[in-house]
Amino acid sequence: MAVPLRFSAQAPSTRLEEIVPQSDRIEELSDSEDEYEDMGTATIEEQAHIAYLDSVRIPIRDDLVTDTSKVQDNTYDVILPYLEGNPNDFSLNAFGIPKLQREKHFTMLKMVLGDYPGKFAMMDASRPWILYWGLQSMTALGLDISGYRERVTHTFSLAQHPTGGYGGGYGQLPHLACTYAAVLSLAMASGTEAYESINRKTLWHFLGRMKQADGGFTMAEGGEEDIRGAFCAVIILSILNLPLDLPQDAPARKHGLTSFTDSLGEWVSQCQSWDGGISASPGNEAHGAYAFCGLGCLAIIGPPKETLHKYLDISRLTHWLSSRQASPEGGYNGRTNKLVDGCYSHWVGGCWAIVEAATSAGIWNRTALGRYILAACQEKKGGLKDKPGKHSDAYHTCYNLAGLSAAQHRYAYDENVNKDLGTGNLGAAYHWKTEGLYEGKNEVWDDGDIVRAVHPVFVIPYMAVYECRKYFEEKEGF
Ligand SMILES: [Zn+2]
Repeated sequence: MAVPLRFSAQAPSTRLEEIVPQSDRIEELSDSEDEYEDMGTATIEEQAHIAYLDSVRIPIRDDLVTDTSKVQDNTYDVILPYLEGNPNDFSLNAFGIPKLQREKHFTMLKMVLGDYPGKFAMMDASRPWILYWGLQSMTALGLDISGYRERVTHTFSLAQHPTGGYGGGYGQLPHLACTYAAVLSLAMASGTEAYESINRKTLWHFLGRMKQADGGFTMAEGGEEDIRGAFCAVIILSILNLPLDLPQDAPARKHGLTSFTDSLGEWVSQCQSWDGGISASPGNEAHGAYAFCGLGCLAIIGPPKETLHKYLDISRLTHWLSSRQASPEGGYNGRTNKLVDGCYSHWVGGCWAIVEAATSAGIWNRTALGRYILAACQEKKGGLKDKPGKHSDAYHTCYNLAGLSAAQHRYAYDENVNKDLGTGNLGAAYHWKTEGLYEGKNEVWDDGDIVRAVHPVFVIPYMAVYECRKYFEEKEGF
């Protein structure tokens, strides 16, 4: 019997409307045209999807109605048609799931890395991130980014601050998030010119000024201290092979600290919340992106099987991470009682490789995550997004693709990998490898839907990580 498809009412992206008025948006940020009210009857493939979704729906339902439960119900109604059917009319793979729309995403990403209308000047401080997201998305799709090398190097040479680190653009104050995105973008661009454009000595001093007496890092001078700072700082220290000793002018030296890693693991440990997740700073609510930052930090200061056991309660963390995967949607949310969102495909989905390097297999459904990304997060015009009804953007494109990569590949930590690399400071993260593709029950993606491997800690291509570190290991002094 044919099953009538459900229909959705789409909510506009209120966040985007806050940032850019509709008249000023460029093409890839335009409103979704995905309101489908009459989708006819279900095909055999769609009936199979509906049967699957019914089979994984959580049978126990709390009767209490709250604002949160109403928003969850509405969101579910919006997403469901995309999991059951194919409202975007995408070409389908052998499993009846939308194929990875490579050409459309490439077209969108070329715009992301292109010129912007003048009114986007308000987003100038985000330029390093837009570059990072765009470049990483392209490499995940297997595209050659060498044509961007010169422009990337030029852009960041202007954004580099004379006192060290990078701001959003020329003349802007240095910030650790901008510096993280700049350094990883230059590592992806690769080559002597890109590497040598980085003033490592002033950057080392800048990082020294971020180090706090309690072991953590602030994001900027006088700015907030949170776990992003801890993650960004060790990523930069490690990939650029900077000295671990704090510079003599680092304020934390007055409190007896001598190394960038002093009290760092203990500080991350304090960020684990009562429910097992990891928060921005001690005492706050756990959040998926902070969980990734905390795990990434620990995976750089030592092998995961040592540092995770030393600083975290792994069983509580595993419980919290696994509770973030929504059912039947298949994607992840970022906090307890929040809505599924494509970017957590990486922020939470990406945690599992690090957890699995420390303990037994994680508790996650890779296939369900792939289903959510391919069926619900691909924008008709290109790019990936939070969920149906939202707009695609560079950020969600990057982290949906990274999450898809984590689901499709098996990343493993092996100290026999790159034995000659990472022998010095913060060298643990150079021993990761890809052990091939996920071999479990996959009824979602074909070979054509597989994205490139992404380094599970640095979240750029493996070779970009290893070549950059190698270059600076072979370089004498700053
Ligand atoms: Zn998101």
